[in-house]
Amino acid sequence: MNKVKKKVKVIKIDVDKCNGCRACEVICSSFHATPKYSSSNPARSRIRLIRDPLKDIYLPVYAGEHAAAECMGRDKYVVNGKEYDECAFCRASCPSRDVFKEPDSGLPLKCDMCEDEKEPLCVQWCLAEALTYEEREEEAEEEVQLGDMEIGLKSLVDKYGLQQLVDTVARLANKERGHTSD
Ligand code: SF4
Ligand code: SF4
Repeated sequence: MNKVKKKVKVIKIDVDKCNGCRACEVICSSFHATPKYSSSNPARSRIRLIRDPLKDIYLPVYAGEHAAAECMGRDKYVVNGKEYDECAFCRASCPSRDVFKEPDSGLPLKCDMCEDEKEPLCVQWCLAEALTYEEREEEAEEEVQLGDMEIGLKSLVDKYGLQQLVDTVARLANKERGHTSD
């Protein structure tokens, strides 16, 4: 495989500085609305806040890869005497829980570092400075990046199988043609 220079984008999370304001969820869901900024629904955010004020727990977690199957077990962390929910630190959208799924379609959500924005919007909106952004260059093997549409289609193939997906798209296309020729 070819070696290429790759820009590595890192969001550093300082959990001790997070105050649970959820501004990061608001701006992320709003930036990714269609059209952009037309609505704000934290359930559509690619960053979610694990929040338990009684235990003084405020933990921002970013949406990572989609996992078609859930893990065989669960993990549970205790940090500085604070016990976090099961799977709290996991970034995957998986069948065992509702986080990082588009609420209407159930399709997986993944942080895209705000595409071409100079600095991720959740970082810009975090006035507590719990989130900071860094970039560096690394040499890596060339890889194919999947966009939102590919990730969504892949999860539908995993769930329903390729043939059913193809049949459904063909049926929708026929319906659409019927509408446009009216
Ligand atoms: S905007 Fe910052 S302080 Fe507010 S919840 Fe998000 S990470 Fe925490
Ligand atoms: S970097 Fe952008 S896409 Fe990722 S969680 Fe923050 S606002 Fe959302």
